[in-house]
Amino acid sequence: MSQFQAIDVNEYYDVNTFERIKSFAQDKPTPFVVIDTQIIAKQYDDMVINFPYANIYYAVKANPAPEVLSLLWDKGACFDIASIYELDMVTNLGVTTDRVSYGNTIKKRKDVRAFFERGVRMFASDSEADLRMLAEEAPGARVYVRILTEGTHTADWPLSRKFGCQNEMAYELLVLAKELGLVPYGISFHVGSQQRDIGAWDSAIGKVKGIFERLNDEHGIKLQMINLGGGFPANYLDKTNELAMYAAEITHFLKEDFGDDLPEIILEPGRSLLSNAGVLVSEVVLISKKSHTALERWVFTDVGKFSGLIETMDEAIKFPIYTERQGELDKCVIAGPTCDSADIMYEHYSYGLPTDLAIGDRMYWLTAGAYTTTYSAVCFNGFPPLKDYYL
Ligand SMILES: *Cc1c(COP(=O)(O)O)cnc(C)c1O
Repeated sequence: MSQFQAIDVNEYYDVNTFERIKSFAQDKPTPFVVIDTQIIAKQYDDMVINFPYANIYYAVKANPAPEVLSLLWDKGACFDIASIYELDMVTNLGVTTDRVSYGNTIKKRKDVRAFFERGVRMFASDSEADLRMLAEEAPGARVYVRILTEGTHTADWPLSRKFGCQNEMAYELLVLAKELGLVPYGISFHVGSQQRDIGAWDSAIGKVKGIFERLNDEHGIKLQMINLGGGFPANYLDKTNELAMYAAEITHFLKEDFGDDLPEIILEPGRSLLSNAGVLVSEVVLISKKSHTALERWVFTDVGKFSGLIETMDEAIKFPIYTERQGELDKCVIAGPTCDSADIMYEHYSYGLPTDLAIGDRMYWLTAGAYTTTYSAVCFNGFPPLKDYYL
């Protein structure tokens, strides 16, 4: 038995879908990502079925293509927006600002003013300076405070530490929000992206309950909303539970802490809606060894850390890689095409690629629909940004 895992595409896409993507990709110059919007629609429907009581705010940064935004808008989604540029992207497509939340805790005064003037009434915060600025530029708006979460080490792409504040500060900020004439609306958290441990939501929801109760008991402030963030999984090499399992557990945690009469529940999925819908197609540029006796091959391909695969940083996200060669699998280092030695995707994790893999062959990076186009550099070494197609 080889120590390497051969990728069975059927574990990731149904046969017809992958064939459709592959034949569409056939005559296009690499690299590029192909995204099947039917899969996005299905992922969205699954989210609605599994969390019938929640409002879904799509985290636009995962993939802001008009094809994606329009589809989700037509399906009734709301949008989690992090900048004035993302606001333009959604409103240019006709999205109304009553379905927009400004979810970034780091914002310029002039941007808050613009959001407010354009009708946005829901803002995230996690600091006093930001909150006071919100009170001046967005008077009377609804504010939710983001708390820090623990257990982010079990997320493959942690998002915490930079965002959120300790419980005690969240409590104080919500009291201050009321004093400043804002509406203390709720609490948010993000347990880390690609969070494989469902228990991370349990401890976060427990913290939220504590803050809800103290604000009610000590100040008569009745919070109305919990924003459970994103973090729901996509299918990479490391296995996760099904969304239905996450939903069952999270619903159970919520009912345990808040009873049947839940506050408004918001979800902000990004990765879980988009990733499974995309295949990134690249080509092998060079295969080499560092000496005659070296045990591993270096496989250089025309996509890399700077053209969409930054989430391979520290080998955090392990994309399943499929090729059409059938040979035995052998250890490879997989690297990108630029003149930067950081541009190595996988060196420590044992990726096996077929021994008969040849220069010019295509590599299919599965589950690549999220955080690839947006993370791609503009022109490093002259390589253009990652191209994207939507089926
Ligand atoms: C990036 C982000 C998300 C999306 O997280 P995923 O793990 O991709 O689902 C949600 N909320 C906020 C505030 C974010 O910054």
